[in-house]
Amino acid sequence: MNVDALRLIAELPFSGEIVGPSDGDYDAARRVWNGIADRRPAVIARARTRADVAAIVRFAADTGALLAVRGGGHSLPGLSTCDGGIVLDLSMLNDVVIDPDRMIATVGGGALLRDLDAAASAHDLVVPAGVISHTGVAGLTLGGGMGWLSRRFGLTIDSLAGVDVVLADGREIRVDADEEPELFWGLRGGGGNFGVATSFRFRVHRLGPVVVAKVRYGLDEARAVLERYRDLVLDAPREIGSAFTVSKEGVSMTVVSSGRDDGRDRVAAFARLGKPIEISIGGHSFIELQSGSDDAFRWGRRYYAKGGFLAAIDDSAVEAVLDGVATAPTSDAEIYVLQLGGAVADVSDAATAYTGRTAGAYWIVEPVWDDPADDVRCLAWGRATAARLVERSLTGNYVNEQGDTGDSVARDAYGSDTYARLLALKRRFDPANVFRLNQNIDPGGPVRTDAVGSTAADQVGSLGLSS
Ligand code: FAD
Repeated sequence: MNVDALRLIAELPFSGEIVGPSDGDYDAARRVWNGIADRRPAVIARARTRADVAAIVRFAADTGALLAVRGGGHSLPGLSTCDGGIVLDLSMLNDVVIDPDRMIATVGGGALLRDLDAAASAHDLVVPAGVISHTGVAGLTLGGGMGWLSRRFGLTIDSLAGVDVVLADGREIRVDADEEPELFWGLRGGGGNFGVATSFRFRVHRLGPVVVAKVRYGLDEARAVLERYRDLVLDAPREIGSAFTVSKEGVSMTVVSSGRDDGRDRVAAFARLGKPIEISIGGHSFIELQSGSDDAFRWGRRYYAKGGFLAAIDDSAVEAVLDGVATAPTSDAEIYVLQLGGAVADVSDAATAYTGRTAGAYWIVEPVWDDPADDVRCLAWGRATAARLVERSLTGNYVNEQGDTGDSVARDAYGSDTYARLLALKRRFDPANVFRLNQNIDPGGPVRTDAVGSTAADQVGSLGLSS
């Protein structure tokens, strides 16, 4: 971006904060969660109001400047930052208002899960979302949103009642089941392709008592434990959510019961699948549960992830998980498997732009490391291990947990029918691809590069993360 463009941004009607490379807090402001995405935007524009968002979007649309939209900054491939372009940072739009009478939460486009959880749990209410409290509500919701309560209440998008969106032409519109219903369909899974979400309205649910079991088994009995786990979850009621991770350290299982009086007995059964090395079973506040793994996935480390859906956890999937872990490059590299089904499958795939409703489980291969010298071997392990699981997986995928980018990622994730519908929406709402730093639905028109000199694909490729 040239100096003129920077000067023009400074002259915009903008009440937020503008941070550029010569400012003292530039390095802190440009950081995102994945340490690999070490980019140098020309400007970080922290919006304070919706009008600020509209001003930046209009500027990007008019000039062709590369625009990265940042909610919680947790994009796996670093899609909420860029080299040389604008980062529209929504972190100041993080208000959460709970209306317990109408059972609605109104949540700013830059709120984190912890902002939402804290406000809702004060009323014993909840919006089902993800499992790490520093994740952004916006990115997670726009892709789908899976977590401990998905089997009971569905995906995050299944609780979404409406969204306020700034479109590529700078107009802000209200989108819900009655106003622009097709766009509402696309926003529930289609990511940031259609506009900037400044505010979400969610239906909230009564949470009730929460009981959590955390159990660790040795790697030597992993196969037997996972076979017993598989049988146990088949009969689990939808108030039980569970996941396990397998790493060189063993099998760590988390089982969550909510809203049931027999929760303690139910989760205790998961501590009898073998000879546990560690067990903790007890009442947890929902906030404790949600933040318990925050440090394991802290900001600034180097991460890659690739996920997929299994019809069920079968022998062949267990085999692929154990083989993968046997060659893991670091002790932090792990494979995570989340139990699905229940309320997620009550909704048809066609009802929202999320593909994977019929899956019994979701897996994700996650190498984690710190030294850039390990990039090549950690990325290679992540991709190779994921490829073995992909062979055993359903078609379709979760756009939010794909460390690679490129046209085929979105096409493969959505499948042909959903992709075609999303493409029609993209051509209607963002034909010039102003919102292109995401798992992109490419509308096929010319992309302006005059103001920035590089495309989104160039930039992601420079991370070594493109497929
Ligand atoms: P950002 O990096 O800010 O944004 C991600 C994408 O969304 C970018 O393309 C960005 O442009 C777009 N975007 C962000 N904000 C807006 C907005 N307001 N309007 C329009 N577009 C926007 N997913 C789950 O479903 N369940 C989990 O339990 C879960 N756990 C996770 C834990 C960690 C540590 C991480 C890194 C990811 C996890 N994810 C999970 C995946 C998560 O859903 C995605 O990484 C998601 O994109 C994060 O959203 P964000 O707002 O933090 O990210």
